[in-house]
Amino acid sequence: MSDEGNCTITEVLKKPFPQKDAYGAIAMPVYANAAFEFETAEDMEAAFLGKNGKHTYTRISNPTVEAYEQRVEAMSGAKHVMAVASGMAAIANVFMTIASSGANIVTSPHLFGNTFSLFLFTLKEFGVEVRFCNILDISEVNSKIDENTCAVFTEIISNPHLEVANLTALAEIAHKKNVPLVADSTIVPWCAFNSADFGVDIEVVSSTKYISGGATSIGGLILDYQTFDWSHSKRLATLAKTTGKQSFQIKLRTEIGRNMGASIAPQTAYFQNLGLETLALRFNSMSKNCLELARFLKTVPKIESVNYNGLVDNPFYEISCRQFGNTPGAMLTFSLKNRNTCFEFINRLKTIRRATNLFDNKSLVIHPESTIYGTLTPEYKRLVEVPDNLLRLSVGLEDIEDLKADILQALK
Ligand SMILES: *Cc1c(COP(=O)(O)O)cnc(C)c1O
Repeated sequence: MSDEGNCTITEVLKKPFPQKDAYGAIAMPVYANAAFEFETAEDMEAAFLGKNGKHTYTRISNPTVEAYEQRVEAMSGAKHVMAVASGMAAIANVFMTIASSGANIVTSPHLFGNTFSLFLFTLKEFGVEVRFCNILDISEVNSKIDENTCAVFTEIISNPHLEVANLTALAEIAHKKNVPLVADSTIVPWCAFNSADFGVDIEVVSSTKYISGGATSIGGLILDYQTFDWSHSKRLATLAKTTGKQSFQIKLRTEIGRNMGASIAPQTAYFQNLGLETLALRFNSMSKNCLELARFLKTVPKIESVNYNGLVDNPFYEISCRQFGNTPGAMLTFSLKNRNTCFEFINRLKTIRRATNLFDNKSLVIHPESTIYGTLTPEYKRLVEVPDNLLRLSVGLEDIEDLKADILQALK
């Protein structure tokens, strides 16, 4: 464990490959192949039945992907990790595994755009209901849970609202009603946040963000802490009779994942594996930059408000410190006079880049209302509550003085 948090970077760096490499390569090679060959029909049968740990076909498993998953396990403490093609694939696969027609998901409407759309539009057509509530109001969340609730879902810090739910309290009420807590932890990685300490049962991550390290690739992760008793799940109860707390991972690994087919490419697993090695370094530097920039933005007259949980006067400061330490990631938002001023500001930037994505090494700015939420009808825009004078900034690794100067010149 490092002083900075829970990151076990040493564990990651010293972790051996799943098998000794034939050439002694020190970085896990990219096994860029679809299929694996066998000496005998018997060996092939055993591989297909999962009896000899051998790979058969890359949609199902792959050595480079396996090495990456094992490193994520070492870093996070999760009992089972599955890497998939994107953050959205991670969320979709989780709900394909635990939801069913007639089930409901209790969550906040303040969600990443595609998660909102998956719950409200896509899953609805398969008979799954989303119950939006104020995730900060524990008694309201409690009142929405019933015997058909398949999960309470929350982002650990909502994007772009930057609200911080009390995870321990959410886990407590969910578990009291025998419902798992599923959390999207994309915004704060394991260096500063350990899901299992706060009662999260299943964690999803868009590894496109912090983990890929330099925005090299799209990826997602599903982490199972094996803390939930799946005999209480309508979907998994039968399986749970024989496989207990491993039911989720078994259903996901042996059926849902391979049927949905959103497997991560070995090349992507290679990039993200490299990203893991510098994750703590980048997270700490970006977070420090972000905190300093947030403090600076508060002193700039043309900026109407600044939202960052690391600021002492932020309403979520205390809960944020308790859950994530004093550097809750590198995303902040701020507001200018109106939509027009935001557009003018964006257009004048020279160092900060105009792009979506989070936690690239480069700082990125976006106007969420016109982009991420741009295609929503006015009715749904009111539900997600993203004002049109709000800008989101993902703070990168540039020199902090250059970022300050760029913002000042763009406000002129
Ligand atoms: C980006 C993001 C996602 C989706 O991840 P992709 O890798 O783009 O599919 C989900 N949740 C959060 C909080 C995100 O920021």
